[in-house]
Amino acid sequence: MLDTLQHKGRRKKLLENLSKRYDFDGNVLEAMGKVPRHMFIEPGLDHLAYLDKPLPIGARQTISQPYTVAIQSHLLNLSRFDKVLEIGTGCGYQTAVLAEMGLRVYSIERQRSLFLLAQKNLESLGYTSPLLFFGDGFAGLPKFAPFKGILLTCGAPDVPSALLKQLAIGGRMVIPVGDGVQRMLVIERLGEEDFKTTEHGEFKFVPMLTGVENK
Ligand code: SAH
Repeated sequence: MLDTLQHKGRRKKLLENLSKRYDFDGNVLEAMGKVPRHMFIEPGLDHLAYLDKPLPIGARQTISQPYTVAIQSHLLNLSRFDKVLEIGTGCGYQTAVLAEMGLRVYSIERQRSLFLLAQKNLESLGYTSPLLFFGDGFAGLPKFAPFKGILLTCGAPDVPSALLKQLAIGGRMVIPVGDGVQRMLVIERLGEEDFKTTEHGEFKFVPMLTGVENK
């Protein structure tokens, strides 16, 4: 599939609309302007790709709506070359946005079919730097810790303690917490045992599940 002038035009319009709703970091919108969202979803849905809506990506999962991607990327508040861990690779769209922001991205997905889909999507668009892992995000990636940012793209029942341990001092976790509806929390690690939590509105995510699915 191509990134046509029509796709580019719709993408630009979407980003203009997002920028009217919230004062996003320019770096976030610039990155989203570079990622062809329509190439991450099912081909038959590509005319819907630049609406501010979540869309199905298979395996009962959805790609987050662009507003949510923008807010979460903004709340991470990271700088170029920082290390970030994403939980819930899905189709790889958010992963690509983080890569375009100049971050060193590690991403975990628990469903094999989506892990493979993200690999294919990212490779075909030339995103070779993100490191993708098939596994359970509750455990994080202790071998690669600490991370300056940790981003969960699924709704967590509570804050996984393994992930708190993998956050760098001075780092931030952006995590939607709750059943059904989630509160967007930012948890800053100020010291070894010193965490500060702030709330940033309500969102609706697919649930964070334990274990892996191999199908
Ligand atoms: N960032 C993704 C969003 C996908 S939806 C995108 O841009 O497409 C959230 C994803 O989290 C789903 O793919 C789901 O399978 C995954 N997920 C849920 N629980 C998980 C866990 N414990 N570990 C890793 N991934 C998980």
